[in-house]
Amino acid sequence: MTAGDGTGNGDGADDERRDAPPIETYDDGVIAIDTLTGGMTSVTAGYLLTAPRPALVECGPALSIDNVIAGMRALGMDPDDLAYLVLTHIHLDHAGGAGDVASAFPNATVVVSEVGARHMHDPERLNASSQRVYGPLFDSVYGACTPIAAERLVGVADGDTLDLGGGRTLELLYTPGHAKHHIGVHDSGTGAIFTGDSVGVRLPGMSYIRPATPPADFHLEAALESIDRYRRRDPERIYLAHYGHVDPAHAALDEAEERLRLWAATAEAAYHTSTELDHVAETLKQRFADEIDASAVADDPDAEKRIELLSGYESNAAGMIRYFTRRDDGTLTPVG
Ligand SMILES: [Zn+2]
Repeated sequence: MTAGDGTGNGDGADDERRDAPPIETYDDGVIAIDTLTGGMTSVTAGYLLTAPRPALVECGPALSIDNVIAGMRALGMDPDDLAYLVLTHIHLDHAGGAGDVASAFPNATVVVSEVGARHMHDPERLNASSQRVYGPLFDSVYGACTPIAAERLVGVADGDTLDLGGGRTLELLYTPGHAKHHIGVHDSGTGAIFTGDSVGVRLPGMSYIRPATPPADFHLEAALESIDRYRRRDPERIYLAHYGHVDPAHAALDEAEERLRLWAATAEAAYHTSTELDHVAETLKQRFADEIDASAVADDPDAEKRIELLSGYESNAAGMIRYFTRRDDGTLTPVG
């Protein structure tokens, strides 16, 4: 393996010494490293899977990647130690720091859906579209993705596996819906599935799972099928990128499906009255705002800020409007 071409600031990341972020070790060989995205705790996790050939699942955005690297160093990971960085999808809150991780860990192969791989090699379009979607948050929270050399990247298809050694294998499940380049990661060693954003988000202390239906390619049927696919795997637990593990997994998946159907039905009813973004977003807000107040995060003043950052009403409304529009005018392409 050769080092990345033009990935840039790997040396800087090495030299920069900073305190390790919060780290939580679960009992199944999974270690959650808090990326401290946007300077907030418990927003986005990277999951380090310990094994002879360790893997990191998700790395978070570029602007907070030094936290993740510091966390891995604190866990005793030397530059040569990481074998894989697995990205559930290429949205910048999951994959934006991948080029920096590739530089800091020169043996690591970056694993991503074959649907999204070329955008990690040449992220110009990804960065440009993210800038449009995120607005000012692009510069304050996310930062630009740096290119990853083709020989460091593997684009995977449904059912491909990664052998971590010691009897631990990761199977990659193509699970579109949230995005067409989304994969879930099934860990044979523990029976856990890392679901990225494909079943929604639930921050610590929240009592429910909130759908995440952003533009540009949210697809309702695909999202429902992906949830069902996880259910058929009968997982021990699921790990959400935002944030942490949820069990029992079956109850969580049932809840995720129910909430997604409810949000979609609410958005569609609003969409039939008016296709304006403000109208659909406001309808969702009126219908679901009480869920935040009613949940256990009510005493956390940052809770609403966190959840809006990850799965805001406007973003979810925009994704669903685009889905309904393409469905109704016949331009929706089947996924999967
Ligand atoms: Zn996300």
